[in-house]
Amino acid sequence: MSEVKLKPCPFCGGEALVTSASGAFGNWYLITCASCKNATHVHPTLGDAARAWNRRVYDERD
Ligand SMILES: [Zn+2]
Repeated sequence: MSEVKLKPCPFCGGEALVTSASGAFGNWYLITCASCKNATHVHPTLGDAARAWNRRVYDERD
């Protein structure tokens, strides 16, 4: 397993938190800011969620 590194929140500099769960669509992950609650979209793997967070694309619209 490669280590996942998360950058601080680009909006407030807050700590990035990983949220994961499993449900009807399988496992999913998203990254949430501990301070301002900004979040990525839901991703099927932690790597994808981390990549989205680190690229700061979480505010893009699908
Ligand atoms: Zn933040």
